[in-house]
Amino acid sequence: MPSPAVTITQRGADRVSSGHVWIYRADVLDANEADPGAIVHLQDRRRHFWGQAIYSSRSQIALRLLTRDERPFDRAFLAERIATATSLRRQVAGGAQAYRLVSAEGDLLPSLIIDRYGPCFVIQTLTQGMDRLKPQIVEILQQAFSPRSILERNDVAVRGLEGLPEQKGTLAGESISEVEAEENGLRFTFDLMGGQKTGGFLDQRENRLAARQYARGRALDCFCYTGGFALHLAAQCDSVLGIDSSPEALGLARRNQQLNGLTNLDWKEANCFDFLKAADLERQRYDTIVLDPPAFARQKSKLEAARRGYKELNLRALKMLNPGGFLITCSCSHHVSETDFLEIIAAAALDAHRTVAVVERRTQSRDHPILLTVPETHYLKCLILRVIGFFS
Ligand code: SAH
Repeated sequence: MPSPAVTITQRGADRVSSGHVWIYRADVLDANEADPGAIVHLQDRRRHFWGQAIYSSRSQIALRLLTRDERPFDRAFLAERIATATSLRRQVAGGAQAYRLVSAEGDLLPSLIIDRYGPCFVIQTLTQGMDRLKPQIVEILQQAFSPRSILERNDVAVRGLEGLPEQKGTLAGESISEVEAEENGLRFTFDLMGGQKTGGFLDQRENRLAARQYARGRALDCFCYTGGFALHLAAQCDSVLGIDSSPEALGLARRNQQLNGLTNLDWKEANCFDFLKAADLERQRYDTIVLDPPAFARQKSKLEAARRGYKELNLRALKMLNPGGFLITCSCSHHVSETDFLEIIAAAALDAHRTVAVVERRTQSRDHPILLTVPETHYLKCLILRVIGFFS
């Protein structure tokens, strides 16, 4: 059956020319009764061909570009895209057992996430179009990797924008939930069915390794989840305290600590805002602090509140660092640009009366590729800062 042709506005065509992959509903002139999730041809008013995209009947992002080519986007094409993504991982995640194999738009497979945890694969298909391709994706993974199990973690709210149900479960192979995998020489248990995201925050793998280089003395890991940063710091530090509001996450953090035979870690269930405020009032001092909060600005409307949140956390952390101390501070809100984030931290440093040097400006691990022409794919900022002076 030939793909339906969807007619887009000049502005929509300009988006494609600019290298972006999203076209908003306001730029759809005629959807030509395309089925929800269909792969469609894009044309402008003069019937000039602009590429092929997946169509959503519900989301404000009506079209996500798959290719500028006319070659049909069939199973072989999909398999090639997954193979291309796999070949990059051999270079940038070589040796890692847990990594992101396919990172949606960053791998030209919009709205598809495939995370690998050793022999287990966890997928998310976040649009009508990708959801339709799910059986093919499972088959391709089976052929390429013979996995022990393929799970879906489609229990995410964004699926609602597409009119898709939230669901999770086993798609192929064994029904397992927990799996052990190594990261930077440490062992971690991942809860693939019950954990946050697909079980782990794989985008911080390289930053956890970087943080270890600077860590020393008395350390604090705020928003520690299952102890990713904390365990990395522990080898270099006298003591590490991990704080998180999730008791389930802390349960796994304790198990991860035991798995690695580490004794210099402690965990505390608390709201990090409250904890930092109290610790600051008690004049607690640290040599290394990690701040890795969840995204505060999921929508643009939340930007102001997000700025205040980041400023408060960073202000308190900077005040509590001893001279020469390191702050590893992160933001995963793509609405907060790196420039914004640097400005917020600069304001916090001034209020804290600290002179701060930027030691490293980092981003998400390389298995989460950033597309040059799609700014949304650059979402994670990680700054490694050093307090080099106090002033009154
Ligand atoms: N640093 C972690 C990932 C952190 S994700 C890693 O490297 O794996 C953000 C974490 O913040 C989640 O574990 C979530 O449970 C926790 N969280 C969210 N809001 C919080 C709050 N106000 N106080 C403490 N923890 C919070």
